Amino acid sequence: MPVANYDNYCRMLDRAREGHFAYPAINVTSLTTANAVLKGLAESKSDGIIQVSTGGGAFASGSAVKDMALGAISIAKHVHLVAERYPIYVALHTDHCQADKLDKLVIPLVEETEKRRAAGKPNLFNSHMFDGSALPLKENLDISVKLLERFQKNDLVLEIETGVVGGEEDGVVGKASDKLYTTPEDTLEVANRLNKIKGGRYLLAATFGNVHGVYKPGHVKLKPKVLKECQDAVAKKYGEAARFFLVFHGGSGSSIEDIHEAIDYGVVKMNLDTDMQYTFTRPIVDHMFRNYDGVLKVDSEVGNKKIYDPRSYLTLAEIAMAERVKLAVTELKGVGTTMYKA
Ligand SMILES: [Zn+2]
Repeated sequence: MPVANYDNYCRMLDRAREGHFAYPAINVTSLTTANAVLKGLAESKSDGIIQVSTGGGAFASGSAVKDMALGAISIAKHVHLVAERYPIYVALHTDHCQADKLDKLVIPLVEETEKRRAAGKPNLFNSHMFDGSALPLKENLDISVKLLERFQKNDLVLEIETGVVGGEEDGVVGKASDKLYTTPEDTLEVANRLNKIKGGRYLLAATFGNVHGVYKPGHVKLKPKVLKECQDAVAKKYGEAARFFLVFHGGSGSSIEDIHEAIDYGVVKMNLDTDMQYTFTRPIVDHMFRNYDGVLKVDSEVGNKKIYDPRSYLTLAEIAMAERVKLAVTELKGVGTTMYKA
């Protein structure tokens, strides 16, 4: 299927919340990792989300260029080309973009979308995240309102964050504090500001003790009930229709019980990065250790071309990552839920 258009993407989100399942949103940085996600989703008969971070975009553009928007466009174009061969819908999203990086990632991508639309071409991306969680809530929402007004005109969905996700992702280190738990007051203010924008659609990453990266069990104290409190507060004040579409960040290493509870409270998108990174690298490590004298030219030997050809171990990595995507879909209760009809 082609990449989901705006209507399909909105329908994906609606179906997930109604049907109590969620989409894995997987960070990719290359053709191989993007292909792994498509393979895993297709084999699960599940739709899903491919996302690119600021660092992922910079990486994809090449170490000599390091242009995060250009790299994100490059990955998006690849996904548009190959997605046609997979019997599922995929949406394209960009991950955490802090206020100081908006001009390097989100704004150039929105400009690109505006140019494409003016030329009668479809959007490359479905949604972008603005991460203003490090700012005071008012500033966070002032920027979010401006973005959502512009996104609404361009069939783009906005993702925002209140509270702070702990841990480290892409070199950005979150601080541990009570902001690790979003409050109902904060999310009421989100609804107050953003729901006024007619036709605007947004996702909310409300934090409930989430931590980026992966930690030994017991390190993270997730409290999914925080999400329920926020949803109950917003439904009480603004009506059932105002319930949020929530995003689960820092989900690597979470227990299945916490994941399912979060889905019951309206999580429709769960970000997966760290677990995927490890899963991708694991078989490569195995390959190198097992084939030590094939990948290296030791003692004036010539090595083994078949073994050091990057395709040999990158294929293993792709297959392993696709399997991890399938596990994620299962944990998120999404198996067989694709909207695609053959
Ligand atoms: Zn995140």
